[in-house]
Amino acid sequence: MFKCSIDSLDKIFAEISKNATVYLPVDNDDGKAVYTKWENGVKWSNELNTVKSLKDFFFPQVENLMEFKVEGKNIEIKDIRTESEDFVVFGVRACDVRSFDILDRVFLVEPCDSYYANRREHGVIISVACTRPSETCFCNTFGIDATSPNGDITVWKTEDALYWNANTEKGKALLDKLNLDECDDSAVNEQKAKTAEIMKRLPLASLTTENFGGGKTDELFNRPEWKTLSESCLGCGTCTFVCPTCQCYDIKEFNNGNGVIRFRCWDSCMYSDFTKMAHGNNRLSQVERFRQRFMHKLVYYPENNEGIFGCVGCGRCLAKCPISMNIVKVMKTIGGND
Ligand code: SF4
Ligand code: SF4
Repeated sequence: MFKCSIDSLDKIFAEISKNATVYLPVDNDDGKAVYTKWENGVKWSNELNTVKSLKDFFFPQVENLMEFKVEGKNIEIKDIRTESEDFVVFGVRACDVRSFDILDRVFLVEPCDSYYANRREHGVIISVACTRPSETCFCNTFGIDATSPNGDITVWKTEDALYWNANTEKGKALLDKLNLDECDDSAVNEQKAKTAEIMKRLPLASLTTENFGGGKTDELFNRPEWKTLSESCLGCGTCTFVCPTCQCYDIKEFNNGNGVIRFRCWDSCMYSDFTKMAHGNNRLSQVERFRQRFMHKLVYYPENNEGIFGCVGCGRCLAKCPISMNIVKVMKTIGGND
């Protein structure tokens, strides 16, 4: 384990910036944390987490995939992929780091998504352990330890110091360049124990997944509570866009006068035209769309992915849904737990 003073963080970012672009959570004009490129004078936010997750770095909201040029009967396909630049994201919380276990299982299985894979290869994630978890946090429900996040490097922050530990080869290579002082882990262990005590007292500490998981489709699919739960859902898709694990997208094309550009953009299972096909739509009502989102995270995804749930308990949907509907209410109502 290595140590530095908090005051030396700018010097560290400057060192990393020689070889890679550094992003970190920074307060915007509304006092909300958003990932921002580091440059001299940019200060790390004190907020617990960012409004949007770091999913955007690896799976952007909109990206061009390829171009076509049509001349008479000839179609020329242009591969517009470029090698991503190296980048480092600092200040990532345990829940958001875990979201990559879910996203990787979607994008990196064969046929591998080369756009996503390219950014995963070039991105280094530096996580920071939580010390002030919020009342909307429930990462613990999904077996995530907020006091020991994964990522390429883990950082623990105390009053005046930062403690660094590398978890991967990429992380070790970066940490080796920083020339930090070696230290023992006593301060870190003390801080972990304090945070673990806070985690036990959070309002959602007792929320469990015991009534969900693979094999529960027959039991849960036709539950009458779906109707009441979904009644006030606006179908706005906010919950899916802020979610670090939602990964649905649409592929579209437009003609810019000089050729056709094929691009993809985030989509939402909460939208009425989601997965609409030539014959029509599989889910005609909001109750069906609403149920799909939660059944996918709590039953279908774990069924197909060795029991891993499609939620990391980040609490963003709890904070952002305009009608205060969220996965916790669904788990309590459908799963009958509190
Ligand atoms: S954010 Fe709330 S209202 Fe909007 S789609 Fe999600 S559950 Fe429905
Ligand atoms: S469903 Fe809600 S709490 Fe779970 S990962 Fe997505 S935004 Fe976070």
